[in-house]
Amino acid sequence: MSFEKLNLIEPILRALNSEGYTKPTPVQEQSIPILLERKDLLACAQTGTGKTAAFALPILHLLHQDELFVKGPAGIKALILTPTRELAIQIGESFAAYGKHLRLRHTVIFGGVPQRSQTDALRAGIDILIATPGRLLDLMDQRFVKLQNLKMLVLDEADRMLDMGFIHDVKKVIARVPEKRQTIFFSATMPPEIAKLADTILTRPERVEV
Ligand code: AMP
Repeated sequence: MSFEKLNLIEPILRALNSEGYTKPTPVQEQSIPILLERKDLLACAQTGTGKTAAFALPILHLLHQDELFVKGPAGIKALILTPTRELAIQIGESFAAYGKHLRLRHTVIFGGVPQRSQTDALRAGIDILIATPGRLLDLMDQRFVKLQNLKMLVLDEADRMLDMGFIHDVKKVIARVPEKRQTIFFSATMPPEIAKLADTILTRPERVEV
């Protein structure tokens, strides 16, 4: 299996090539075709499996295609919720690397630091937002983040967000995004509370387990 066979657009293939990726990991091989069909996904995958690219590559691919052919209203099109600042930064770096030949803009927001540089980035306009739940809600309440044009939502490390006590914040965010969207759910484990959350936010999801 190759990234070409997954039908990813050429600017992404070129970026993967310069990253030195020669073939997709199992979670990428299984998830990317599902996501390119704009289906919801429930994936059980640990850190280190290549799960970030499994959702980042389809998001970049689909948003680029939409930009060329659909040209909808401006605003944030994809939101990635993740439990920690470190993960948020890492995911941001992945989007920067894989999207370096595309014009899509992303930014990363997390708590524990002044909000000014984050709100400046938001004001400049972005397509993809990577966020920890608390700071996101805070900036939503202050109207720096508007999600009414959101098309894709990712929950990354959902079980860890539950363990860290973010599940209430996550539910609040989800209640404020459009119902018609593609939802992507990644968790290393699937305890009952996580399975229940997945069930309430996903629509007829395909399942992937690695
Ligand atoms: P993740 O599970 O998303 O944290 O990714 C783990 C590591 O694998 C990261 O350092 C990625 O850069 C790397 N990686 C992801 N996909 C591939 C791939 N297809 N080939 C080689 N390395 C990869």
